[in-house]
Amino acid sequence: MIDYDQKATSVKTQVFPWESTLPYNAYKDYLKQRFGGRIQKVSVDAGFTCPNRDGSKAYGGCTYCNNLSFVPPYCEPVMSIAEQVEAGVNFVGRRYKVNQFMVYFQAYSNTYAPLSYLKGLYEQALAHPQVMGLAIGTRPDCVDEEKIAYLEELARDYFISIEYGVESIYDKTLERLNRGHTFQEWAEAVEMTAGRGIHICTHVILGLPGESKEEMLHTAEVLSRYPIGSIKLHHLHIVKKTQLAAEYKKNPFPVLGYAEYLDLVVEFLQRLRPDIRIQRLVGETHPRHLLAPLWNVGASTVQQDIVKRMKDRDAWQGKLYRP
Ligand code: SF4
Repeated sequence: MIDYDQKATSVKTQVFPWESTLPYNAYKDYLKQRFGGRIQKVSVDAGFTCPNRDGSKAYGGCTYCNNLSFVPPYCEPVMSIAEQVEAGVNFVGRRYKVNQFMVYFQAYSNTYAPLSYLKGLYEQALAHPQVMGLAIGTRPDCVDEEKIAYLEELARDYFISIEYGVESIYDKTLERLNRGHTFQEWAEAVEMTAGRGIHICTHVILGLPGESKEEMLHTAEVLSRYPIGSIKLHHLHIVKKTQLAAEYKKNPFPVLGYAEYLDLVVEFLQRLRPDIRIQRLVGETHPRHLLAPLWNVGASTVQQDIVKRMKDRDAWQGKLYRP
C-alpha cells in the first residue's frame, strides 16, 4: 500500500509506487514487467452467446449491447480457435512488431458452456507457442467452482485473466439496463475467484442513465473494497440498433460531454485503490455504429488529456483512497 506521507507535493516529481511516470497504475506496464517486453492481445470469437440473450436469464440482452460493434474483422466464428489465433498472431504481430500474445475471448460470455467444451477452446488457444495466456470476458453468473478450479490449474502455467462485467454497482441501474444479474452476484464471483492465481478484471461504465456524479464516484470506493486486479473504464456509448438507442431516440437523456468525462475519470481514479491496474480509460466504438456521444476523439487522445488533467491538478490514482 502507498505511504501517503511519502507522497511528493507535486505530481510532476512524483515517484509512484508503480513502474511508470503516469499518474495511474497502467496495466500495460505491469504486463511489460511481467513478460519482460510487450505483449499484445489477439481477440477470438468462439461463437458463444449469453444467458441474457438466449432466454435462460432474459431475451434481447443488455440494453446497450451490440457485440458486433467491437469484434475485430479477423475474428470469424466459422474458423476454429486455433485458426483464429494463427490469423490474429500473424496480423497483430506484423502490425505491432511483437512476438508474445494473450488470447482474448471477447465476444459475449466466454465461460457460458460446459467445462469440457471450454477446455477444448482454451487449450487450442494455449497450444500456440507464442501465446502466454488468456483473457476471458464473461458475466458473473456464468462461472462456478468447477470452472474456476480449472482456470486456477491453468494459471499455474499461464497468465489467466478473467473479466467480469459489472458496469454499475447499483441494482437499480443493472435492472434498467436489463443486465440480468445483481451487484451481489458480481461480488460473489469475484470472491470465488480471488486468491487462486487468476487475475481479476472488471468493467465499469460511467455516464449510465439515472446515476448521479456522486454515485459514479462512489463506485470507485466500493470496487476498491474487492480483490480486483485491474479495471476497464468505459463511457456510455449509445450504439445504433440497440434497445438503448431506441430509448434514447424516443426520449433523449443526458450523455457525458468530453470535458465532463475527463473530469469524472480524474475524480474516479483518485478514489480508486492504488494497486488496481488500469486497463482502459475510455470505451471505443467504430463511429459508424455510434449514435451518441459523438466526441470525435481517439482513445490515445483521451488518455493523454486525462494524464494532462491529472498532472495539472496534482492528482494521482489513490490520492483520495481511504481503506
Ligand atoms: S452480458 Fe455482455 S454479451 Fe450478454 S447481453 Fe450483456 S453486454 Fe451483451
